[in-house]
Amino acid sequence: MTGSPWFDATDLPRSPGGMIQADAHCKVTGYDKVYVAGDAGSFPGPDWMPKQAHMADLQAKAAVKNLLAEFKGQPPRAIPKSELICLIDSFNSGMLVARTEKYNIMLPDISLLHWAKRGFEQWYIRQYLK
Ligand SMILES: Cc1cc2nc3c(=O)[nH]c(=O)nc-3n(C[C@H](O)[C@H](O)[C@H](O)COP(=O)(O)OP(=O)(O)OC[C@H]3O[C@@H](n4cnc5c(N)ncnc54)[C@H](O)[C@@H]3O)c2cc1C
Repeated sequence: MTGSPWFDATDLPRSPGGMIQADAHCKVTGYDKVYVAGDAGSFPGPDWMPKQAHMADLQAKAAVKNLLAEFKGQPPRAIPKSELICLIDSFNSGMLVARTEKYNIMLPDISLLHWAKRGFEQWYIRQYLK
């Protein structure tokens, strides 16, 4: 994976892999009130930190909180927690892999987890279908 081609047309700082370099607060290094979240960014953290929608959500929340704090003249304080949560769905069964700084879990491949993922998808997407 590397960054989008349009990054090359900017002065944004880049990681060795071509992503937009951010600090632990998701703030773009060396820029004022500029934040990055999700796959486009490169963030300090453990080497297993995933490029996942869940991680993008956590980074986006921290970035918004920090940007609003800066607009109020306060320093950015929010740091997204590093969390890998993956329900690997093979259509009739599923396997859960979860990792944080505190724990590391891998559940066996069972049909219940396939249905759990289907349920989660419906619940998660509802907010965007309103
Ligand atoms: C096959 C696959 C399966 C995955 N499965 C999972 C999973 O089960 N669970 C999970 O958590 N994560 C999963 N991921 C990872 C997840 O999709 C990404 O981590 C997540 O979408 C990142 O969100 P984002 O908003 O940073 O980027 P994106 O979702 O990629 O959004 C970026 C958006 O910017 C738009 N864009 C790009 N360039 C421009 C431009 N120049 N102008 C305007 N718009 C632009 C793109 O069209 C896109 O809509 C999967 C990824 C892939 C590829």
